[in-house]
This record gives sequence, structure tokens and C-alpha cells, in this order.
Amino acid sequence: MKSFTHPEHVQHYINGQFMESASGKRFDNLNPFTNQVINTVAEGDKEEIDRAVKAAREAFDRGPWRTMSVNERLSYLYKIADLIDQASDEIAYLESLDTGLPIKQTQKQAARAAENFRFYAEMVKARLHGDAYQKDGDFINYTIHKPVGVAGLITPWNAPFMLETWKVAPALATGNTCILKPAEWSPLTAHKLAQIVDEAGLPPGVCNVVHGFGETAGASLVAHPDVQLISFTGETVTGSEIMKNGADTLKRYSMELGGKSPIIVFEDADFERALDACIFGIFSFNGERCTANSRLFVQSSLKEKFVNALLERLPHIVVGDPMDPNTEVGPLIHPVHRQRVLEYLTIARSEGAEVVGGHVPEACREGNFVPPTVLLNVTNDMRVAQEEIFGPVLAVMSFDTEEEAIRLANDVKYGLASYVWTNDLKRAHRVAQSIEAGMTWINSHNVRDLRIPFGGAKYSGIGREGGYYAFEFYTETQVIHVAIGDTPIPKFGKAKA
Ligand code: NAD
Repeated sequence: MKSFTHPEHVQHYINGQFMESASGKRFDNLNPFTNQVINTVAEGDKEEIDRAVKAAREAFDRGPWRTMSVNERLSYLYKIADLIDQASDEIAYLESLDTGLPIKQTQKQAARAAENFRFYAEMVKARLHGDAYQKDGDFINYTIHKPVGVAGLITPWNAPFMLETWKVAPALATGNTCILKPAEWSPLTAHKLAQIVDEAGLPPGVCNVVHGFGETAGASLVAHPDVQLISFTGETVTGSEIMKNGADTLKRYSMELGGKSPIIVFEDADFERALDACIFGIFSFNGERCTANSRLFVQSSLKEKFVNALLERLPHIVVGDPMDPNTEVGPLIHPVHRQRVLEYLTIARSEGAEVVGGHVPEACREGNFVPPTVLLNVTNDMRVAQEEIFGPVLAVMSFDTEEEAIRLANDVKYGLASYVWTNDLKRAHRVAQSIEAGMTWINSHNVRDLRIPFGGAKYSGIGREGGYYAFEFYTETQVIHVAIGDTPIPKFGKAKA
């Protein structure tokens, strides 16, 4: 694997300048594989958020961003996409270094991030038109779509670069200005994005990046009266906190939150494909994946065969250095998160589940590793079946009938993703439509066309991003009424005495 240099220190990017925090405060950024410090990061707080919002507001109100032609604006997005493509190996390297995600997986993420910019540029071209309605010869109503203003974008540390671009691209494409507050555990590729935006020559203030912690920098962004919308991806409890904190300034929200997604495998499923999808769906991205199929429901008649095959594969999953192209599962993001995941294994045992773990090589002892783990003897009321663990841990349960599978799958507070495996076409649709989730895949793992919406039901989110739905979220629709006839207007105060 080709290695790249990383910055010794990461600064904020505000109003087209890289800068320190006014307080001079910094925090350490750890390598999940070694737990050594990679570099330091400027720790932003209210002051940096205020500066960034002021810059974004000015760029929105006065700058050329909103007034330039759509084609000119979108040319910046294509430029950013090209620069991401040119730096894709470096981005993948930085992402794996920072997050512990296997390089084989981060390489695909960089390409996907470039695609986000191209996709949203195309989307705006296709979608930026209003509707018109004519009422006889009296009047015409038409709609226009305008940018909302200053967008606050708050992102998590799992797949950080992809998720950051997933928000920055539609926010900019639709003419907003923005402040990105990346997760404190994964600042490197957000910094790279700031460098790319700078190189692409975006007008100052259009896209700002402020590093720092959620409770300080993040909370200041949410509470700021000049920020019109918040697009948030992260934990459900954080989403709820953000909604409370932003209530006084009446924000528009998009909430992409946690998940505890079921995979239902019927006895007539394509065995090998279902098994591959189940394993990949929970252990890829180190299990730190919002759409991970963390609850397996397998039909009782198939259970023994399926679980045996699963356990046979477990020790062969390649756990190791995220920079090794053969690695399939790397270290978790941070020692604190590893501890949280390990606590769930203790909880599983105390609840009566059997914990079967894969293998972590000796060379990995300094990192935040949790081996790919399967929990047996689980019942759906256990905490490990109900709470998001966000690690490589699969809870296995079984069902007898279709009705039972649906009931168990829905008996959880989350509703992000779901997966159904059966070769019975009618049943596949019946079950898919009965599941309370934002997204269901039938006989497939988590692949999707960028044009479709992404998001969750219940405690997994509010609203949809992606596809044309992002256009609605990032634009304000204005209706304009024009009289084209002489419809009588009531003459108040002109009544004859
Ligand atoms: P998190 O909620 O701890 O943090 C996410 C971001 O919010 C970080 O930038 C953090 O600094 C910031 N933040 C924290 N407290 C804040 C506050 N009070 N005000 C403003 N900002 C605040 O989440 P995480 O641990 O970084 O990410 C993992 C979670 O994200 C999991 O629950 C996962 O399911 C979820 N996730 C959801 C999706 C989705 O599309 N639904 C995608 C990826 C991750």
C-alpha cells in the first residue's frame, strides 16, 4: 500500500483561510491501529462557529455564490469531483489511518464521494425548475426553488468522507453556503476536503470546516440564529438533543440516526448468497455501519445449517492492519468506543446469550480490535437485540412463520434498513412492505442507486436525504402569484352610504 504524508496539525477552514482557534486549544487525534497520536487538531468552540457562520452568511447575502449562473456554480462541483478523483488514493489512505476502516473499503468510498458531487450537480440541473398553474384567464401561480441560507452539516466518524460529501455537495449545488462540523474522532479527510474546496477556488465563506467537539462546536452551530438548517448524521440520542437545542431558532432538520436492522432469511433463500450478504452486512466497515444487519432472523428449519456455516466462516474473516489490502475487519475507531462494544459482550453473557468470537492476531494487540462476534441463544427482548452496538457483533434469532418474522423484525425502536431473503416473490414483497423501515433490500446486500432516497423510520431518522429528496431539503420553495386578468377585487370601504 502506497503511503502518504498526513498533516502534523489540522486547522479550521473559515472564510477561505486555514486558521487556529482563538483559544489556541488543540486536541490529539489517535490512530485506531496503534493508539499513537497521529496529529493534533484545532479545537473549535462558539467563537469559531460564530466566525464561520458570519463568513457563510456574508457569502450567502453578498457573495457571488447565489447570484452566479447555475452552470458556473456547478462547475465548482465538477472541479471538486475531479480533485477528489485525483487524490483518491491519498483520501483512502487518510481515511483508513484515521478510522481503522480497511483500505479495500475506503478506496471505494473516495470514488463514491466524487460521485456525490457529480450526482448533485446533475440533480440540480434536472430539478431546478418550478411548476406553473394557470387559473382560467385570471392568474398564474408558479413556484421557484431557492437556497435556504446557511446550512449546518454535522457528521459522524464512520465513513466520514463519504458522509461529509453526501451533505456538502447538495448543500452547495442548491446554492446554500455551509459549515461542516466533522466528528472529532475522524478529522483527517474533512481537512482534505477543505484543501480540495480551497484548491477548487470556491469564493471565501461558501464552504467552511470547523473542527471540535459536539457539546461545544456542534451545539453552537445548532443554536446559532443565522443557521437555517441542520443536516445531522449520528446517534439517535444526539439527534434528539440537537432538536431540543435548535428549537428556539426553529431549524429545518434532516436526521439520519442509528439502526438495529434485521436480516430475515427464509428456508427457500439462496443459501450461499444470503450467507455472504449476512456476513458482509454485519462485519464490513468493522460493523460500524448504520445499515448493518445486526439482527439475524433465520427460519427455524434452516437455522442449524445457516448458523453452522456462519460460525465456520467466522475464524477465517481477516482481521488486521487496515492498511493491508487483505484486511476485512480493522480496529474500531477509538478505545472509548471499543470499551462500549466490549461492554455489550458482557451484557450479552449476563443476559444468557452465548458469545462466539473470531480471531484477533497477536500483531493487533495495540489496536481497538473486537473480533467478528456472533451472539447465540438471543431473544428479542435482550438489550443486545434491541440496542445499537455499532461494532462487529451479530445477534442470531429464529422464527417459524412469516408473521412471526415480521413481528420480531418490527419489535425494535429503530427502523433504518432491513433485508429479506426468499425466493418466493410474493412473500418477498409482502414481508418487505410490512417492515417498519426506511429501506428494505430483497435478496441483496446494501447497494443502491444514488437517485433513490436514504433514511430511516421510527428512531432511525426524520426525513430523507439522497436522490431528489435532498433537493427538497436544501431548497426553499416560493410561490409567486401573477394576475393576468382583471379579476374583481372586493372594494372595502367603498360601499354606498
Ligand atoms: P454522535 O451522535 O456521537 O456524533 C455525530 C456528530 O455529532 C459528531 O460530529 C459529534 O461531534 C456531533 N455532536 C455530538 N453531540 C452534539 C451536540 N450536542 N450538538 C451538536 N453536535 C453534536 O455519532 P457517532 O458516534 O459519531 O456516529 C455513530 C452513529 O451515527 C451511529 O448511531 C450510527 O448508526 C449513526 N449513523 C447513521 C447514519 C444514517 O444515515 N442513518 C449513517 C452513519 C452513521
